[in-house]
Amino acid sequence: MKTFPVSASIKRFSSRFKKAGFTLYIVGGAIRDYLLGLENGDFDFTTDAEPSEVKALFSHVIPTGIDHGTVTVIFEKQMFEVTTFRSEGIYLDGRHPSSVTFIRNLEEDLKRRDFTINAFAADCTTGAIIDLNNGLKDLREKTIRAIGDPQKRFEEDALRIFRACRIASKLNFIIEENTLSAMKSEKENLKNVSAERIREELFKLVGSDHPSVGLGYMHHSGVLATLLPALAKGDGIKQGGMHHQDVLQHNIAACQAASDRNFPLPVRLAALFHDVGKTEVIKKGEGRNTFHAHEVVSAKEAKAIMRYLKASNEQVRIVTHLVREHMFNYQSDWSDSAVRRFIKRVGLEDIPLLFQLRIADQIAIHGEPNTSLIDELQGRIDKILEARDALSIKDLAIDGNDLMQIGVPKGKSIGSTLSYLLEAVLDDPAQNNAEQLLSMARNYQRSVGATTES
Ligand code: ATP
Ligand code: MG
Repeated sequence: MKTFPVSASIKRFSSRFKKAGFTLYIVGGAIRDYLLGLENGDFDFTTDAEPSEVKALFSHVIPTGIDHGTVTVIFEKQMFEVTTFRSEGIYLDGRHPSSVTFIRNLEEDLKRRDFTINAFAADCTTGAIIDLNNGLKDLREKTIRAIGDPQKRFEEDALRIFRACRIASKLNFIIEENTLSAMKSEKENLKNVSAERIREELFKLVGSDHPSVGLGYMHHSGVLATLLPALAKGDGIKQGGMHHQDVLQHNIAACQAASDRNFPLPVRLAALFHDVGKTEVIKKGEGRNTFHAHEVVSAKEAKAIMRYLKASNEQVRIVTHLVREHMFNYQSDWSDSAVRRFIKRVGLEDIPLLFQLRIADQIAIHGEPNTSLIDELQGRIDKILEARDALSIKDLAIDGNDLMQIGVPKGKSIGSTLSYLLEAVLDDPAQNNAEQLLSMARNYQRSVGATTES
């Protein structure tokens, strides 16, 4: 058996435990990934010291999961997660153990971990790797296998069902047969798992190198229909035309393409959800179905999913926005004013992400992207930026104070007048000078006044 290369810093960390009479082992993904030749700088530790005893050893300790015996120690600028050996009482609700008993025994601790390949421990002094659950054999066979009776393990904590898919995605492994069939029979319990825990694993799955592997397992085990029914509904929905896949397989393929190109998480999520709304708007036709305005419904569904996952406001915004805009149809005959409106609508910062989404979508359809139109559009955007044309209200030659000085009332009128002026300037940048804008503002006020009076 190989030995784990324990860094000098971890050796110093563990000697603090030793001096106080405790033992400390490295556990979890770091050892698994080392044995596979993968990078993993995220270290989890397990110890016979109780949380209060760990706290007493270091000056910076955060009680991250104190109920489960986990604390995070900040040591030499690294964050080390330290969990006390534990054996858990029964899980009455499939979420929280009814009691956590701390034990002074590594073997018991490793047995309560989820999968055999996640249950290695390494001695912090010698680096000797301990494998009490036959993890090495499964690692060689690229297999994810629950420790003990999979049915029972998934009853204890249903998140493990989803973690199997997530780890399959990360490592491109298969899930062992009995483990997979227990996933199928226990999947409904995933509904009781908190959205935060689901989100953490889903984002890791989508952020991995092989999201299509995990999404495939989710689909075939029924986990997808349980957790993300809107996405699962695309199964079997034929599209026709250029599309050779059904809606679900196309969404998955676009997500995989975004991962292959190493695009960031929001683009991968938007790729996964970009066509979810197609199942709602489908109109069946001869040889090809149509999905009018599907991007609007898809954006609504993507938003609902992101909200259910309790994603941050910014994550909800960007994913929804990308899905909503993914059907932009640039052609060489677009006027400069149309390009300026595109920039304003999509937002300068979000345009590169939208282009990435388009590339992923094209790869999913054609196997490779045709970027000539995107490149052309990018060239025109660059020119507009060089010309410093106004693209937002703050770029206008006048502001709200100027409007108040000519008698526009404070409040809503200021905003609506500025928006009106921006529309005019997007059409014709030459109008962006104070004199002309003030004169247009006066005319606009008159016409608005006239309509409200009449
Ligand atoms: P990665 O490095 O990709 O995050 P990981 O295996 O380290 O993978 P973590 O979520 O960091 O995943 O969990 C650390 C370890 O804790 C796992 O390797 C596993 O031994 C154990 N573990 C995590 N979640 C569970 C769970 N729900 N049930 C049982 N054991 C778990
Ligand atoms: Mg980890």
